[in-house]
Amino acid sequence: MKSKSLKTQVLVIGAGVAGASLAVRLTKQGFDVLVVEKDIFPRHKLCGEFVSPECLAHFEQIGVLDSMREIGGDVIRETRFISESGRTLRVPSEWFSNGTSGALGISRAEMDYRLLRKAREEGAWVIEGQRVVSISTAKNRVQGVVVKDKSGERTGIEADLIVDATGRARVAGKLVERGTGSNKGGRSTKHIAFKAHFENVRLERGVCEIYFFRGGYGGLNYVEDGLANHCFIIETQTARQYGGDADRIVSEVIFRNKKVRKALEGARRRFDWIAVSVEKFGRQASVDPENLISIGDARAFIDPFTGSGMLMALESSELLANAIGRKDIKDAGMIKERFDADHRRAIRQRLNVCSIIRGLAFSPRLAGFVIGAGSLSGSLLERITALTRPARNISE
Ligand SMILES: Cc1cc2nc3c(=O)[nH]c(=O)nc-3n(C[C@H](O)[C@H](O)[C@H](O)COP(=O)(O)OP(=O)(O)OC[C@H]3O[C@@H](n4cnc5c(N)ncnc54)[C@H](O)[C@@H]3O)c2cc1C
Repeated sequence: MKSKSLKTQVLVIGAGVAGASLAVRLTKQGFDVLVVEKDIFPRHKLCGEFVSPECLAHFEQIGVLDSMREIGGDVIRETRFISESGRTLRVPSEWFSNGTSGALGISRAEMDYRLLRKAREEGAWVIEGQRVVSISTAKNRVQGVVVKDKSGERTGIEADLIVDATGRARVAGKLVERGTGSNKGGRSTKHIAFKAHFENVRLERGVCEIYFFRGGYGGLNYVEDGLANHCFIIETQTARQYGGDADRIVSEVIFRNKKVRKALEGARRRFDWIAVSVEKFGRQASVDPENLISIGDARAFIDPFTGSGMLMALESSELLANAIGRKDIKDAGMIKERFDADHRRAIRQRLNVCSIIRGLAFSPRLAGFVIGAGSLSGSLLERITALTRPARNISE
């Protein structure tokens, strides 16, 4: 039974990077924004926690750059791609920032908490610890959204515009598909990812290591408090051979890569592994109702080896905030049309390039071959990596 009901101009479902940054941008423009988040922040979240240099310009625009730097994480100047045999290919962070700054290694717990705090400070109304559980539609529009807290109490919400920022879970999109019978059924999960923080890791400061192993790849970089984040993604069938036990996968599969073993042997895990399934890379299914728009991973998921998922989430919230703020755009349907076109244009090339490179990432032999060859030509490598980022001029 619904016990309460609320009304707002924009309802943002999910307070990850995409949702919280959108809330900041829209409240700054004077919109009435309600954010609903299932978790209570701060909370750990599965992620490589490599905040690429391009994100810093977004942080500056929305007024959180100093706050992010205050976290005291690592400034990452170089990413090293390491094959199983130990061959290394180096990608300087300055390639993504025109030399202005490094990437940041900071925990998602702290980063997401500070983004959401900023949204509150700007005037967004934030409800944590409540999940969206149902969505009603009529005449190609969302009529109402129902959220539920841990005690089971339900609240109905009406909004002019509803934004699905629930990440790869695509909660709003899936609820609508279920309600309209257009759900194509569950996908088989081909990949699973794990993450935990470690102390006592032997890793150079200012470096992010991306390493390859049978059936997957992982990343290691420092965050705040002297801890390192270790995050990896692996084919589900390989993970199953080890009972889905992350510690066993690390010691029996990943440690065949000697450089990773050297970095992590003797390190202590600070909390239980967080595990999530990864169903799909690239564009997600589009949603029909004209006043429901997906952003961030709910819209498109770029391969983690690019270290640019958070950037894409920030870009999508910027594009949507711009479309909503335009004076010549009058209704939700027009906002959606505009956003769809802008977003498609912004990400098409990146996703296409990643779908070609993806095969390498899950094949250690191929990755080893390319790493060996790629290290010979820095300018070619710079051009290839640029194709996985937003368009910019590459230095000749
Ligand atoms: C293995 C791996 C490593 C990665 N490493 C990196 C990296 O190093 N750098 C990088 O830039 N990107 C990385 N990414 C990608 C990055 O994590 C995502 O692109 C980014 O988090 C997307 O942000 P988002 O806001 O769209 O979604 P999310 O950050 O997933 O946020 C979604 C939010 O919605 C909330 N939510 C979910 N369901 C509900 C519901 N029913 N009701 C209310 N709220 C709900 C969730 O609790 C969450 O807070 C990685 C991804 C993976 C899988």
